[in-house]
Amino acid sequence: MIEVFIQVVIFIAGALLGSFFNVCIYRLPIQESIIIPPSHCPNCKTRIKIWENIPILSYIILKGKCRSCEVKIPLRYLIVEILTPVLFLLLWHTYGYSYEFGIYLLFISILIIITFIDFEHQLILNIITYPMFFIGLLINFLKGTFFNSLIAGLIGGGIIFLIVVISPFIFKKEGMGGGDFKLAAVIGVFLANGQNTLISLFLASFLGSLVGVTLILLGKKKFGEYIPFGPYLTSGAVIVLFWGKNIMEWCVKRL
Ligand SMILES: [Zn+2]
Repeated sequence: MIEVFIQVVIFIAGALLGSFFNVCIYRLPIQESIIIPPSHCPNCKTRIKIWENIPILSYIILKGKCRSCEVKIPLRYLIVEILTPVLFLLLWHTYGYSYEFGIYLLFISILIIITFIDFEHQLILNIITYPMFFIGLLINFLKGTFFNSLIAGLIGGGIIFLIVVISPFIFKKEGMGGGDFKLAAVIGVFLANGQNTLISLFLASFLGSLVGVTLILLGKKKFGEYIPFGPYLTSGAVIVLFWGKNIMEWCVKRL
C-alpha cells in the first residue's frame, strides 16, 4: 500500500517538474528568467490560469491549443510531462531508497532539459553544463567517489573533445559542437564510472548512426547534414543508468 502511495507521489512530482522543465526548455535558450513572469502563451501573451497548468491533463483538455488565440502548443510539452515521471518511476524501480536515486533524479532532470533544447535550437548551453560539471564532482566528493567521477568526466569529455577537434580534418567540416564534449564530461562526472561512461558513448554513437542513416534513407536529411548529437549522448547515459549492469554482463558473457 505504502509502495503504491510512494509511486503516485513520484509520478505527480515528476509531472509537475516536467511542466517546469518545459518552461526551462522554452526560456533558457532565449535568456528569459525561468521564475518571472508567470506562465503565459508565447503567441498572445495571455496568462495561463492554474487549471490550464495541470501537467498532462490540461494539454489533453485544451486539445494542445492556447485557450485564447488557439495557437498550437508544441507536442513537446506533453512529451516532457509524461517522460519525466516515467523516468523518475524507472529510477525508483532500479535504485529504490538510496543516494543514487536522489543523484540520478537530478541527473535525469538535467538530461531532459538539455535534450529538448538541443532538439529545438541545436544548442547545449554552458549555463547548464558548467555548473552541473562541478555539482556532479561535489556530490561524488561527498559520496567518497570523487576520483572515479573526475576520471569518468575526463574520459567522456576527452573522447568527444578529440572527435570535435579531429573531425573537421577528416570530414572537412564540424561533426559535433563544443557543447557536445562538455555534455559528455557532465555525463561522465555523474555516472562516476569510466566503463559506464564508455558504454554510454558507444550507445550514443550507435543510436546516432542508426537514426542518421534512417533519416538519409528516408530522404529527410542529406549525407553530412547536421544532426544534433546531444540527444544521443543523453539517451546513451539514460540507458546506462537503467541497463548498464545488464549490458556489461552481456558483453562479458560474449567476450
Ligand atoms: Zn495564445
